[in-house]
Amino acid sequence: MDGETALKIGVLALQGDFQEHETILTSLGVDVREVRLPEQLDGLDGLILPGGESTTFGKLAVTFGLLEPLRSLARSLPMWGTCGGLVFMAKKVGFDQPIMGVLDVVVERNAFGRQVDSFEQDINVRGIEGGPFHGVFIRAPVVRQVGPAVEVLCALQDGRIVAVRQGSLMGTSFHPELTDDPRIHKYFLKIVSEKKG
Ligand code: GLN
Repeated sequence: MDGETALKIGVLALQGDFQEHETILTSLGVDVREVRLPEQLDGLDGLILPGGESTTFGKLAVTFGLLEPLRSLARSLPMWGTCGGLVFMAKKVGFDQPIMGVLDVVVERNAFGRQVDSFEQDINVRGIEGGPFHGVFIRAPVVRQVGPAVEVLCALQDGRIVAVRQGSLMGTSFHPELTDDPRIHKYFLKIVSEKKG
């Protein structure tokens, strides 16, 4: 990246589509590390929590002793959750499952109903230039409430919130890692670089 030392980005690799994130990050010149154990969190510049089943992330994070380290790191380390990753980062999800509880949002899981589990839609995301982004929604959550420090980056036409940012924490209901458009990954890397200084 710009001839400087590559950013070191961890991808939580407990379950879900972490490899797709890794492919995009690698193409952007990032030094990528899969994270399954607490010691693999050391020395990262940022962390991505991929799409998958948030209940499974929660259980495995408890089993591997990752939940507390993740919670305390979220105070300083930029993190981005996609879909199940966003659910895992939220403060409240309405289900009894282990969550990080670091992003000040209330999330509704599987919010688009069973029949319409998955859909794709072009969306406008604040801070993302160059036209609409192709949003891939797979049994996606929506953000029902946001705290005062949370900026809404994207809401659908009906007002449902699908992308948020709180300082250097970010969450998207959709899956940029399942497209070949790297703009949201680049946006996250910008947050990471700014934080790194
Ligand atoms: N439905 C999943 C959950 O609530 C998220 C699905 C996904 O990441 N594609 O945890």
